[in-house]
Amino acid sequence: MNRVVIVGGGPGGYEAALVAVQLGAEVTVVERDGLGGSTVLTDCVPSKTLIATSDLMTDVAGSAELGLVGAGSESVDLRRVNHRVKRLALAQSDDIRRRIERENVEVIAGTARLDGPETVLVDRADGGSEELHSQVVLLATGAHPRVVDTAIPDGERILTWEQVYELDELPEHLVVVGSGVTGAEFAGAYKALGCEVTLVSSRDRVLPGEDPDAAVVLEEVFTRRGMNVLSRSRMESVERKGDRVLVRLTDGREVEGSHCLLALGSIPNSEGLGLESAGVGVDAGGFIEVDRVSRTSARGVYAAGDCTGVLMLASVAAMQGRIAMAHALGDAVHPLRLRTVVSNVFTAPEIATVGVTQKEIDAGEVDAESVTLRLSGNPRAKMQGVRDGFVKLFCRAGGGAVIGGVVVAPRASELIHSVSLAVSTGLTTDQVANAFTVYPSMSGSVAEAARRLHQPR
Ligand SMILES: Cc1cc2nc3c(=O)[nH]c(=O)nc-3n(C[C@H](O)[C@H](O)[C@H](O)COP(=O)(O)OP(=O)(O)OC[C@H]3O[C@@H](n4cnc5c(N)ncnc54)[C@H](O)[C@@H]3O)c2cc1C
Repeated sequence: MNRVVIVGGGPGGYEAALVAVQLGAEVTVVERDGLGGSTVLTDCVPSKTLIATSDLMTDVAGSAELGLVGAGSESVDLRRVNHRVKRLALAQSDDIRRRIERENVEVIAGTARLDGPETVLVDRADGGSEELHSQVVLLATGAHPRVVDTAIPDGERILTWEQVYELDELPEHLVVVGSGVTGAEFAGAYKALGCEVTLVSSRDRVLPGEDPDAAVVLEEVFTRRGMNVLSRSRMESVERKGDRVLVRLTDGREVEGSHCLLALGSIPNSEGLGLESAGVGVDAGGFIEVDRVSRTSARGVYAAGDCTGVLMLASVAAMQGRIAMAHALGDAVHPLRLRTVVSNVFTAPEIATVGVTQKEIDAGEVDAESVTLRLSGNPRAKMQGVRDGFVKLFCRAGGGAVIGGVVVAPRASELIHSVSLAVSTGLTTDQVANAFTVYPSMSGSVAEAARRLHQPR
């Protein structure tokens, strides 16, 4: 029987474990914090649970227009919200543990490192150590928040995204440093929950890695809702002064708040993993180098998820893990296709994207046509009082296959699915246009955008 040892029980690890069992392997997962990994315990699941409450607040704040009387005076009990967040995360971690134990995966609580490519040494959480031997090892150790010497989190007022769920009261004024996806999501969420929020962005606009039109919409919405967005403002240091925090910017300006949330990116958990002993190569940032079937430079050692830095998404981690096991255990393998990855920024409105980007088109790297339809013209959006957002579709020049798209809307994460199906299966704009959509619906704008790209023959 094949044996597989997996280090890390996040989506990169536990999804791989399920595939390995299905393919007949005997599987051990070593996990130091809890099954589900950071995804479930500190990052994705907690933040999206918090955002479920902030989304509700956003909806209520806009409901007077729809005839609701008295809306807008609600307030949030952050202690209860955070209690729910943590309870839900632990329950999900338990669900995952039960599921993989049901499949006879051995789970060891402890910290693991390689000692050569086929040996994994484990410091068990219950004391003692163990040596595991396997011809197939998967490293799925994830990443942790980046911190800098001049802004050391104290867990009370200067916080990483892992620490915010310990707050019992809403910050009076939260300064969020970093305007990438994590910074934007938390800034939007806390603003909706009722805090004063300042977002410190080192770039020209928020979400520098996202579709520029989408970023413009979000920044407008943030500003309109009263968020103080400081662009081209680089943080130099964050200092605690009693029950205040002082954020100094490199241009000499200072921002004072009650709390500061640092969203400065992630560092791979690759240190102390014994990578050198096994001949596993890393890049300059410490990310484990892998190919499209998740192989590292050491035979039999695979890596998946955030520790590879390929695309820091739970869905990509899981896919890399599954692909690794299919490759290692001799099943049919489909190498990772990043072109079809769907991602979403969970702000209000949400920003969902798939396929080629505006940046690639503008740079002349991809020859494509595009159309953008504002949601303000969509009948369902009008009924629901939605004005911000759009649907943008990219297709091959000449009205051919759909090759990408952006949706900025409430629940864009759900609306993008039809575009994602089109991109991954190579549907043409006509095929998308000819599929029925419900009237009235937001998805009608996806079909309408496809119709606008029709080329008469
Ligand atoms: C705030 C935030 C929100 C996010 N929201 C989303 C989202 O909405 N959607 C999405 O797709 N992605 C989201 N992401 C990204 C997503 O969380 C990551 O891409 C995902 O966690 C990667 O999964 P992973 O399996 O690689 O690592 P992880 O989930 O981090 O799991 C790795 C596990 O390995 C363990 N480990 C590390 N070293 C060792 C060792 N030596 N021995 C034993 N165990 C070890 C760690 O303790 C951890 O439990 C978010 C990220 C952040 C920061």
